[in-house]
Order: sequence, then C-alpha cells, then structure tokens
Amino acid sequence: MVNIWNMQFRDLKRQYLALQADIDSAIKEVISSTVFIMGNPVVELEETLAQYVGVRHCVACANGTDALVIALKVWGVGEGDAVFVPDFTFFASAEAVSAVGATPVFVDVDGKTFNINTLDLETKIAETFAIGRLRPKVILAVDLFGLPANYHALQQIANKYQLKVLEDAAQGFGGGIDTRKACSFGDIATTSFFPAKPLGCYGDGGALFTNSDEWATLARSYRMHGKGDNKYDNVRIGMNSRLDTLQAAILKVKFKAFANYELDAVQQIAKRYTDNLHTMVQTPFVPQGFTSSWAQYTIVLDDENHRNNLQNSLKTSAIPSMIYYPKPIHEQAAYGTMVDKPTGCPIAERLCRTVLSLPMHPYLEIDEVDMISAEVAKAISSL
Ligand SMILES: *Cc1c(COP(=O)(O)O)cnc(C)c1O
Repeated sequence: MVNIWNMQFRDLKRQYLALQADIDSAIKEVISSTVFIMGNPVVELEETLAQYVGVRHCVACANGTDALVIALKVWGVGEGDAVFVPDFTFFASAEAVSAVGATPVFVDVDGKTFNINTLDLETKIAETFAIGRLRPKVILAVDLFGLPANYHALQQIANKYQLKVLEDAAQGFGGGIDTRKACSFGDIATTSFFPAKPLGCYGDGGALFTNSDEWATLARSYRMHGKGDNKYDNVRIGMNSRLDTLQAAILKVKFKAFANYELDAVQQIAKRYTDNLHTMVQTPFVPQGFTSSWAQYTIVLDDENHRNNLQNSLKTSAIPSMIYYPKPIHEQAAYGTMVDKPTGCPIAERLCRTVLSLPMHPYLEIDEVDMISAEVAKAISSL
C-alpha cells in the first residue's frame, strides 16, 4: 500500500532500507580498518567509476563545487579569464568560476532541454572578444536535471574559438548521448555525490573525470595541499579536498544498485509521468539519442501564478514539489555588483517563474506516480 502522507521528494530512507545490510557492513569495515582518509575504497571507487564512464581517470574529492574549482585550477584559469556559464543552474556552477578569480559570463538556456543555449553562447563569446576586457577560456556546460548538454555543438564552438569544455555533471551522472556516458564529454568533467544527486553518498562528496594523465596528476596534487612526491612535499598552493573513505565505501554499495536497477527505474518513472501529463503541461524533452539520469523531473507551466497555484494545491495533498531554480544566477545578490551584467537571458528568467519539479527517485512506485499525476491534472484543470 502506498502511503501518500509520507511522500518524500527524494526518498533516501527507502533506498537505505533496500541496501541496509550491505551499507552497514561497508561502514563497519571502514571503521575497523581505521583508514579514514584515502583508504582502499577510495581508489576502488575511482577505478569503478572511471571504467563505467569510459575515461582514463577519476579523481575523487570533497564535493562537486571543489571538483569544479580543481578543474579550473588545473587549467590555470584565473583573473582576467572568462568562463561561459548557463544562467539557469545551481549557484555552484558560477561560484567555482568566481572562486578562482575568473569571471562568469552568463549564457541563456534552451527552453526545451533547459541546457546551455548554443546560439546565445556564440553571441556571448563574440561579445566578450569584442569588448576585449576578458580572455575567453572555458565553456562550463551543465547537465541540468540529469540531461547531458548538447556536447556535439559545444565541441564545435569550443574548437572554433579554442576554448576548453568543462562538463558540470553534478546532476548528470548516469546520463548519456548515444553510447557515451555523462562525465566523458568535457575535456574535464565533474560530478557531485551530495545525497540528493543521482549517485549520492551520506554527506558531501565529488569527483573529477578526464582522459588526460597530466591533468589527473595535477588534480590529485590540488586536492591534497599541492603535493609533489608526497603530502609533505608541496609544489603548489592546493586545497584539502579528499573524499572520506566512509563515503567511498557507501558509494561502492550504492553504485551497484545505481547501475543494476536504479537508473532503469527512473527511466520507467519519467516515462510514466510523461505519458500521464504531456497533454496538459510542458513535460521534459529528451532529444533523440540522449539519456537523462533524471536528477529532477521538471514541468513548465504557462505563467508564475499557475506554477505557484499548482505547487500550493499539491502541498494541500501532501505532495512535495520544488522550484529549481527560483532565480537566474545573474540576479543572485552575490553577483549584484557584477561589472558584466548579461545582455539578457530571457529564457532563464521565464523558466525561473514557471518550472516545478515533481517527486523523483528510483524507489517511487508507479501507483504513486499515477496519484501525483492525477493531483497535477486536477489542479491544472482548475487553474
Ligand atoms: C549540486 C551541484 C553542484 C555542487 O555540488 P556540491 O557537491 O553540492 O558541492 C554543482 N553544480 C551543479 C549543477 C549542482 O547541481
């Protein structure tokens, strides 16, 4: 029986109950080993994930934000450099750019995929070159809500202007394009193991992926105080950004479930939502050949009132929903004094007023999806 009164937006408790025996024993094993930092599970996890993604190197670190910072440091990106960032994403995508002293240039997104808009990207690159104050260096593309960005087009633009591509796959782990997996598209890619992400741990965690031996070595140095031959040989100013052994051990257990059945389960759930809802509301668009890992299932309403009314109706029926994201990044107070205000990101602004994310996780039952859909349908028909 489905208990709607306990419905969670992302039910981590159900996942834990399904995996409890293995997770508990993995945790106990780490505690008995007392190797809490850089224990064997960290290296084993890195090897497993690199193989799954299909790249040479995975470098685990403390969180997805640090993974972005480390990638930018590896490339020497800093003051005077422009990094092109979608205006509709989680704040960390831009924050990492500012953290290394570079300047984010905000780019509008696509109204159907929610990912970086390649037409506006070329406009913003051309503008940045024309103004001449910043050096264009990196396209930071986000695999928003689990759907990979349009890397085929992005790579062509990167080649044309000699830019690097950084793939922020914090929400995208497990997605793909044709036979290639997310985290393999950027020159460097990053992900996050924050608990609510597609592959989450029991705290903070992150990782960086690359085929470059040189960049992987630099990333391993940056995550451990700029180490040279060892931790006490410091050849650059680095950070303290490692993944705890406990988190790696938990992730090893969770990755098996993720690859064996969770990723399939979210495909079924997303399909059911779309079958139920596509005639009454804009449902997520997944281009031909693309696979989403469904970090979020996000619908778009006609206007802000409809969106807010729908959210309130769902709340009355004890159905949780979230607004990802309520503000475009360029409107965040932290960027309020920014010199380079964007020339406009109208699609990002509209989406912030009209999107609503529905409960989504691999342990959601089809009955529950139908029940949520019925409540959405009822609310929309009375808007
Ligand atoms: C969550 C997230 C991050 C940051 O990851 P943390 O592990 O929370 O630091 C970066 N970018 C995007 C798009 C995210 O969703």
